[in-house]
Amino acid sequence: ENTQLKDIIAHAKEYGFVYPSSEIYDGLQAVYDYGAYGVELKNNLKRLWWETMTRLNDNIVGIDAAIFMHPTTWKASGHVDSFNDPMIDNKDSKKRYRADVLIEEKAAQYEKEGDKERAQNLLNAMARLLEAEDLAAVRELIINEGITCPISGTSNWTEVRQFNLMFSTQVGSVAEDASTIYLRPETAQGIFVNFLNVQKTARMKVPFGIAQIGKAFRNEIVARQFIFRMREFEQMEMQFFVRPGSELDWYKQWAETRMRWHKALGIPEQKLRRHDHEKLAHYANAAMDIEFEFPFGFKEVEGIHSRTDFDLKSHQEYSKKKQQYFDPEINQNYIPFVIETSIGADRLFLMTLCNAFVDEEVEGKQRTYLKFHPAIAPVKAAILPLTKKDGLPEKAQEIVENLKYDFNIIYEEAASIGKRYTRQDLIGTPFCIAVDHQTLEDNTVTIRHRDTTEQERVAISELHSRLTEACSF
Ligand code: ATP
Repeated sequence: ENTQLKDIIAHAKEYGFVYPSSEIYDGLQAVYDYGAYGVELKNNLKRLWWETMTRLNDNIVGIDAAIFMHPTTWKASGHVDSFNDPMIDNKDSKKRYRADVLIEEKAAQYEKEGDKERAQNLLNAMARLLEAEDLAAVRELIINEGITCPISGTSNWTEVRQFNLMFSTQVGSVAEDASTIYLRPETAQGIFVNFLNVQKTARMKVPFGIAQIGKAFRNEIVARQFIFRMREFEQMEMQFFVRPGSELDWYKQWAETRMRWHKALGIPEQKLRRHDHEKLAHYANAAMDIEFEFPFGFKEVEGIHSRTDFDLKSHQEYSKKKQQYFDPEINQNYIPFVIETSIGADRLFLMTLCNAFVDEEVEGKQRTYLKFHPAIAPVKAAILPLTKKDGLPEKAQEIVENLKYDFNIIYEEAASIGKRYTRQDLIGTPFCIAVDHQTLEDNTVTIRHRDTTEQERVAISELHSRLTEACSF
């Protein structure tokens, strides 16, 4: 199972998708950089999300708020007081763990052994103790369950402490004047504090939404599973403002809409599942995740939350500025309720990569390729002259000129055609277009299809429309 994740990580690095950050200094834990093909894939995913949100919905507009925000924002949102993870240290290995993750892993082990009831009881016990903030009892639970440190193998644990996930830094150059501010741990608050600005200036009427893509930062302690959990990542969030009382209808609608979006991306139905939250965050009256079956199990890709009027109300309280909307249809002032859809661009990237990764044996030969939907593939087509002479490169360059304004195209003339096909398979290019001697005579080329490796003869004049059609949903 996890060998598959290892293969994907190695592939991502080898073929220009994702590298560990500052790798020459041995990397920085839970921070990653995107390479030549990675950045194309990520941009395609972000553009797709942005366009489906803002273009296909005439009642959703975008914003781009700053990463730094007034520190009171995070008091109002609850992040200063309650954006914590319970941590525990092993005294022998000096390693720090998330207490809840240690317990979840134990429960997963019970479940694997067939003892579902024991697993569920353990999870329930943990949820109760965390809810009651009884950290001493969480530690006892860990000890009583015989949970040991994977490194030292001992159960010599410290007490459990709450650890805030926000990164802080100083603004102001003179030490005395400097004040502590945070790197935003979510993009949502930039939307909430701009709610009235956007509503008024874009002349929006409830129900309407505000979408945003941007970096978020969390000091995650359990940083594993590649880009699944990063310390610096990108979120794509949309807050949809609705009339109080209508929020659960909208919640249902957005849950369905978002699930359809993932299926349209080419994710098979059986690899997606909906997980409804039983335990709700302090601000929510309904919440669910869309989960994908990663090589390490079903895990959250996107969250859909009915956040009530918690955030706007709280900002009204802290800022002393009214956050109300006058609804002309019912002649009433109110603070809107909010449905949020929140997805990590990096996690979406990982889902797409895992789903596309094919490593199969065909007639005794290993073949690896990435079967991205052409609309999100980093490179749409590779233009390949069969040889480097007889005017074939020039003819191929003409085709590049024709296509490059609308599609990300690669031109390659080195190595045998077979090797060049293989290389395009590895980065997930859906079409290889070969230019040969016949092309000079009749202006046709060979299109070789990535997934089937089938080839067909097509007129050059048809290439643009063929690509346009293939690269849309
Ligand atoms: P988790 O339970 O996995 O920590 P969460 O419930 O804290 O996630 P939210 O706060 O709801 O996540 O964030 C919304 C989305 O942002 C998640 O569905 C995920 O796609 C993404 N996300 C959250 N934290 C990270 C992270 N550390 N690295 C990458 N993506 C993240």
